[in-house]
Amino acid sequence: MLAKYREKRNFNVTAEPKGGAKPRLKSKNLSFVVQKHQASHLHYDFRLEWNGVLLSWAVPKGPSLDPATKRLAMAVEDHPVEYGGFEGVIPEGEYGGGTVMVWDHGTWEPDDPDVDANLEKGDLKFSLKGTKLKGSWVLVRTRGFGKSTKPSWLLIKHKDQYASEEDITITKPKSAASKRLMAQITKANDGDVEKAAKADPSTASKASAPVKQTA
Ligand code: MN
Repeated sequence: MLAKYREKRNFNVTAEPKGGAKPRLKSKNLSFVVQKHQASHLHYDFRLEWNGVLLSWAVPKGPSLDPATKRLAMAVEDHPVEYGGFEGVIPEGEYGGGTVMVWDHGTWEPDDPDVDANLEKGDLKFSLKGTKLKGSWVLVRTRGFGKSTKPSWLLIKHKDQYASEEDITITKPKSAASKRLMAQITKANDGDVEKAAKADPSTASKASAPVKQTA
């Protein structure tokens, strides 16, 4: 299941994990991660552990806590479970070149234990126990957008006590793993700080340890 993932990457160049040969098949506490990724375009990679890999969707605008806001989520290749711990910089010129932040992480639980059947149906209901994202959510498959042949899904918050109109991508911009902003992660890994800083809300970079930008 990781063949596509490995095919796209040169592990002599990128620090991303290759993934273990033997995936864990059962896990009591299934992990989830949302990685903020400033590649050619900023997006949030939403990943759910299932059958020993991380099922993955690229969400251009990131998750919304508002049940009225449906966020486009493009299905992408499965990632190794270890990828959930990856925060750093993918070298420019490599696949997905740019900064990766562990924007949120925690555990998830499907509403219905038959996840494969729900994925097949295109309607996966689940709950999240993350640092930022909590409560009930759904991923619903839709018809593809434009010329894309990749399946498109919508990530939607269900109404519960965690639903809110707060724009959490703006109000909570720091890493759930390291409390760093994109610019700080990038600086620590010798990446392109100016490019990465564009992904931090302007209010956040002023409020925290300043990353000096010369005009
Ligand atoms: Mn990505």
